[in-house]
Amino acid sequence: MQQKTLRIVLTGAPGCGKGTQARLLREKADICHLSTGEMLRAEALKDTPLGKSLKKSLDKGEFATDEMIIEMVSKRIDEKDCRNGFILDGFPRTLPQAEALEKILKQKNIKLDYVIEIQVPDEIIMERILGRYSCAKCGEGYHDKNIKPKIYGVCDKCGGTEFVKRADDNRQTVKNRLVNYRQRTYPTISYFEKLGLLRCVDGTGSIEATAAKIAKIVGLESKK
Ligand code: AMP
Repeated sequence: MQQKTLRIVLTGAPGCGKGTQARLLREKADICHLSTGEMLRAEALKDTPLGKSLKKSLDKGEFATDEMIIEMVSKRIDEKDCRNGFILDGFPRTLPQAEALEKILKQKNIKLDYVIEIQVPDEIIMERILGRYSCAKCGEGYHDKNIKPKIYGVCDKCGGTEFVKRADDNRQTVKNRLVNYRQRTYPTISYFEKLGLLRCVDGTGSIEATAAKIAKIVGLESKK
């Protein structure tokens, strides 16, 4: 049986749960998770002029250039693991990126199915981001208050004992990221609304509750 393709944009403020929900959806739908933040963090680790300049921007919560991101995503979509579809997490983040995405998909003769906005108020965002950390080995996400490992200091998923926090998860950078979100990313939401692609979910509940709402929108609620 041929698998149905699914191409989704997950959008929302930093810390709204895009990454967590994208990972869950990837497992349910067997499609690719493309996080531009993760791609940029990997690039920023490199000891190259680009890596160094990216690190500076990311640490301050500044956006990478539209040209660079658009090229990166366009190439990535062509890879084999995206043939069943993809979840774009953190892209598009500006209006030019949204317009470019529409153009790129048209050229590739593929269609976006849904743009899902996860809505969470700023006070909750700040608490979520400042408390979050992840396993250094497998990347499993945790939170100081809300999602602790079952055994203190040991990752539930891989048994790793080292944990890391993102360099941009500090109060000042989060404030900058929220301002950037309101000024530069928010206009993309009305753009997708006009295209009839936008669906909104309340992301203030548990991870499972939000995942169930997203699964329902994309028609995967009965799949385990
Ligand atoms: P994220 O992991 O989605 O929170 O992204 C982390 C950081 O990477 C953001 O604060 C931006 O500085 C940068 N970034 C991620 N995606 C994009 C994008 N589509 N355009 C520009 N900058 C981005």
